Amino acid sequence: MFAKTSLSVLRRKLIDRQISPTELVQECARRMQELNPALNAFISWDTERALQAAAQADMSLPLGGLPIAIKDNICCLGEPVRCASRMLDNFVTPYDATSVSNLRAAGAIPFGRTNMDEFAMGSAGKNSAYGVTRNPADEERVPGGSSSGSAAAVAAGMIPAALGSDTGGSVRQPASHCGVVGLKPTYGRISRYGLVAFASSLDQIGTLTSCVDDAALLLQSLCGHDAMDSTSSLKPVPNFSADLHGGVRGMRIGLPKEYVSSGNASEVQNALNAAMAALEAQGAEICEISLPHAEAAVASYYIIACAEASSNLARYDGVRYGYRASEVSNAPGDLYARSRTEGFGEEVKRRIILGTYVLSGGYYDAYYARAQRVRALVARDFTQAFESGVQLILGPVAPAPAPKLHATDMTPLQIYLEDIYTVPANLAGLPAISVPTPQSGLPVGVQLLAPHFEEARLLRAAATLEQSWK
Ligand code: GLN
Repeated sequence: MFAKTSLSVLRRKLIDRQISPTELVQECARRMQELNPALNAFISWDTERALQAAAQADMSLPLGGLPIAIKDNICCLGEPVRCASRMLDNFVTPYDATSVSNLRAAGAIPFGRTNMDEFAMGSAGKNSAYGVTRNPADEERVPGGSSSGSAAAVAAGMIPAALGSDTGGSVRQPASHCGVVGLKPTYGRISRYGLVAFASSLDQIGTLTSCVDDAALLLQSLCGHDAMDSTSSLKPVPNFSADLHGGVRGMRIGLPKEYVSSGNASEVQNALNAAMAALEAQGAEICEISLPHAEAAVASYYIIACAEASSNLARYDGVRYGYRASEVSNAPGDLYARSRTEGFGEEVKRRIILGTYVLSGGYYDAYYARAQRVRALVARDFTQAFESGVQLILGPVAPAPAPKLHATDMTPLQIYLEDIYTVPANLAGLPAISVPTPQSGLPVGVQLLAPHFEEARLLRAAATLEQSWK
């Protein structure tokens, strides 16, 4: 009935009393029940709790009565937060993440825990202890990851919008593969308090929505300084919707020559060409720029992300949190070792080992310190590009559309290399968005990147693109 209707339209209908928040929650629950057996986008949902919130919804608030799904690594008071890991199987959260309490304060109804790659490590949604998520556009394909469930749930119209997290592309890449809008704001724009840490200097909460207007609407309620996260920004929060349809006339948009690669699938190149044509037709000027260190970004990202993950995940020791192995000897360390061996999946263990290695005394300078220097160079490339006079940067999201679910011909390294176009924004802390392009086949998005805290400009160009294809 309301499937695939945007937040903005639903909000109108709620205010005009054409529908009630209770009906909306019931409709989402019905869609979840109907579609989840095939898609596995949700690990769990609590309809009773959502109906209770719906009964008290205040429609005078900006998100009054609107259900929003939450990725399984963001804390919702009294609900499980499993990070799709066996390690946190029975863990129930004693508090709300700031992003979730901000949503509640704006009247939204957090509804459903979305599936993901374990601890947000992955690009396909296949590394979940709760089974793979399927792509609603083609169920034989992956939805992308790690916010696999959030993207699939919005694309399938099970929920109008969802929160995800983006450490190296996990909001933008599944958005691109599923045909929805994925926004990763500037590092520090949204509080990370209550987001389970993967790589703290890269992690950022983002949104998955069916259109750009909804991304602006959600972002508005999510932003703002939070004393509980020392990296959250004190910058004033502008009105993101005010100039959303102001167009791109006179804007200079850079296309990095390193991003126009023969390694890109033809669908990706076509999407990029369509975006350039659309932006030029709306009065923007596309110019070639260079990001000379683009090629080194993936290597730098995987060293830094794994190093931080190895430290952040040290807390799961079988004593304080989550899973504890039952058969343990009295040997020192046996409880830790067995609990971690049994509780973590293969990819998480691979990264903990890699991260521990690059931080170890003998290798720190060769790997971790060098990766940090490369990170600074990647960030400097962007600063120089923006100083040269471009206001935004355009590029692909991923080198190819969603792969087949059972494709087994890729090594972990090849999978990591697929993140080439998304990790730079995280290394530099920049805001970036994936916008769907018109496609006859599989969904493919294009990416726009803006200088720090210029989300309003980013959203404006994204809305222009979306509008020109309607
Ligand atoms: N694919 C990347 C990784 O596996 C990004 C993950 C993310 O953004 N959470 O690390």
